[in-house]
Formats: sequence, C-alpha cells, structure tokens
Amino acid sequence: MLAVPVSLRFIVTIDGPAGTGKSTVAHWLAKRLGLEFLDTGAMYRAAALSALERGIDPADGECVAQLVRELDLAFDWTSDPPELFADGRPVGERIRTPEVTRAVSLVASNPTVRAEMVRAQRGIASRHPRLVTEGRDQGSVVFPDADVRIYLDARPEVRARRRVEQLSLKGIVTNEAEVLAQILERDRIDSTRRDGPLVCPRGADVVDTSDLEVGAVIDRLAELVRARAGDALAASASSRGVRGADGGAAAP
Ligand code: C5P
Repeated sequence: MLAVPVSLRFIVTIDGPAGTGKSTVAHWLAKRLGLEFLDTGAMYRAAALSALERGIDPADGECVAQLVRELDLAFDWTSDPPELFADGRPVGERIRTPEVTRAVSLVASNPTVRAEMVRAQRGIASRHPRLVTEGRDQGSVVFPDADVRIYLDARPEVRARRRVEQLSLKGIVTNEAEVLAQILERDRIDSTRRDGPLVCPRGADVVDTSDLEVGAVIDRLAELVRARAGDALAASASSRGVRGADGGAAAP
C-alpha cells in the first residue's frame, strides 16, 4: 500500500446514532469542503443484505463471518454520492429496506465483520485520503487520528420522526412509535457491542441536530472544520492541486 503524504491526508469523521442526519450532512459537507464522502453504514447494510439474500441467519456468526471474508465491496467513486457494489452488483435501495435495517445491527456486532470493514475503510482512505467519513466508529476506532472528529446527536423522538418522513417519501408508511422502538433497539445493540461500540470519540465536537435544519447543521460543521483544521485543509487541497474549503456545491 502506498503511504499517503501527511500534508495530503485530510479526514473528517462523523459518528452518531441513527436518524441524526449523518449521511446527508456528511455528503453535503464533503461537497462543501471539496472532499470525498464515505458512507460506512452502507457497507454494513450491504453485508446484511448479502446474508439475507443467501438465506443466512444474521445471528449465525460463523456463516456471516465467512460470507463477509469473501464479499467484494467496492464503491464507484465517479458517481455522486459514490455508488456501492457488492460482488459486482449495485446494491441501490435494496440496502434500505426494513428487513435489512432490522438485520444490520446484528451483522455489525460480529467481530469478523467489524475487522473486515475497518480494514476495508482504512484501505479506502489510503486511496481517497481527502475524506468525510460517517458511521458509528469512525472517530473512535477507524480514524482516531482524524483531523476533525464530530459526534452528531438528536433526541430519539426527533430521530424517529425524521425516519418516518424519509420512509414516507419512498412511499413506505410506518408507525412512529414502532420506528422509535426500532431506533432505540438499534442504539442499544450499537452501543453495547464489544467491538467498536457507538461512543462519542475522544476529543470529538458534539453537535445536537434536534432543532436544526440540515442546511444549518452543514454550515455549523463547515465552520467547525475551518476553526479546528482550516490550515491543514488548505495544505491538503494545495498539495492535491484542488480548490479548498468552499470550493464545492452549496448546501441543500
Ligand atoms: O448509518 P446506517 O443507519 O446506514 O447504519 C446501519 C447500521 O450499520 C448501524 O445501525 C450500525 O449497526 C452499523 N454501523 C456500524 N458501524 C459503522 C456504520 C454503521 O456498526 N461505522
């Protein structure tokens, strides 16, 4: 693996529980700062999808581990956001179904799955060293030396309402109380697993998005990145020969 020059590497991690808006915010923050975007939740979802499609019980640790060792996950970095392929097939919206959402935390608590994903994510960062990466363990485990570590949070009721709205945009009608129960269960599994539990990374900036619109969250995070590591971001952009902060698209 080629070593990445220190001045080129610039990583922002965004961790937090489901429904805090991490993916949307991370994608737009990356565009705003001229960085690439990595959705690590999609990787765990693709592992869960592959298990379900092969009829593997997500609770069967050995079979899931074997599957993930052999699974070929790759992003197409020419699309925006990068499109994820599992064994050469685009996963698309199949990773967002309620079945996958129910299975994913169990799959993600498998130590072999986590080890494979951490290895894959570090490999991605060596080839795409200017990155906003989001998930549950990005600042705490995968990139503890990231230039900026952010922890997004929001009240559980707000997170459930957002999820219901998201699903209804896709024509899926859900009950808010049930969605809240699922979110709390996912938080419980994600926070209590032994490997890479959901925690606020050491030294992370905590941003509560409960009462903020998406655009305001992105503005706040962009300011935060500039305040914490504006010089490193500019150095990274110039060693790459690209425009730096604010070179990307406006937020939604
Ligand atoms: O963010 P998203 O809801 O797509 O993540 C799906 C699931 O993947 C999470 O509930 C969590 O169990 C798992 N995950 C993880 N570590 C990450 C990203 C996601 O365990 N870095």
